[in-house]
Amino acid sequence: MLPIVVEYNVEVLKKFAGLNRSGRLAHAYLFIGPRFVGKKKTALAIAKLLNCEQNIDGAKDIFCGQCPSCLKMQAMGHPDVSLIAPMTEGASIKIEQVRLILEKVKMRSFGGGKKVLIIGEADHLLTEGSNILLKTLEEPSPDTLLFLTATAVENILSTIRSRCHIVRFSPFEKVELEEQLVQNYNESKFSSHFLAFSAEGCLGKALQLRDSQSFDKKNQVINRFVFSEDEEYIKTVTQEDEDVKFLLEVLEGWVRDAVLVKSGIRDQRIINFDRLNDLNGFVKKLTFKELTELYSQVVKTQKMLSENFNVKVALAAIKLSM
Ligand SMILES: [Zn+2]
Repeated sequence: MLPIVVEYNVEVLKKFAGLNRSGRLAHAYLFIGPRFVGKKKTALAIAKLLNCEQNIDGAKDIFCGQCPSCLKMQAMGHPDVSLIAPMTEGASIKIEQVRLILEKVKMRSFGGGKKVLIIGEADHLLTEGSNILLKTLEEPSPDTLLFLTATAVENILSTIRSRCHIVRFSPFEKVELEEQLVQNYNESKFSSHFLAFSAEGCLGKALQLRDSQSFDKKNQVINRFVFSEDEEYIKTVTQEDEDVKFLLEVLEGWVRDAVLVKSGIRDQRIINFDRLNDLNGFVKKLTFKELTELYSQVVKTQKMLSENFNVKVALAAIKLSM
């Protein structure tokens, strides 16, 4: 069986299918939830559903994914759907971007269905952009659906907020996401467990971590830092900030696990569940107090790194305490 790739929120899509059938769709929605939880993907899925050629009567809960309209949307080449978001991470949304997308409100729909405009990461709208958006929200067009996505309601101007219907997205339970990764993405049980944990339940994040081979990389780090006496490793790893950052994240998880194992916990709460035997061996050498001290040492070093200090000495000290 081919894996079913579901990166949008199926429940939310279903809800919108129902709203569409009963003619109760509003003009603007604000999707709130953590990053990588599937807010933009869900807005796109709704756009597909509302324009799907196999769903003209609106009877279906899901788009076909194969008609010309669905395919065009998949390739982001459908004239009735537009998405804007900051150009780079953390940047603000440019005023020209906002102007361009909102001009479509006045245009006629090409396919005769609903036009869907998505403003992703609307937390990053500046005042001018917010003001233009507000004007559009005050004079909505019946054939246009506007979606804003943001991580927190507080980041959106209250005048905008009050004109949108709010839909909240929550991450999956870790166990649930783990199950999805096994079932739909052919991931192994161990790697799924690690990915679900590291992504804190957000599917998009878990897939990103999977694509960057995060599971294999974390095991390499454990092997080289915890279980070998490779003296060159600290020197090599501190050459790249990203590498040290990852090493410290892995160590933080490892020592946290060790503290849990030392207190008798050996269940799904362990991040490195694939290395339970190694953890059992590791905690034998250290007392509970030493382990908790080691944990604060790692956290302190993470803080040092974020403040741009050189952490070579601190890492050597951690290694020595192991
Ligand atoms: Zn379709």
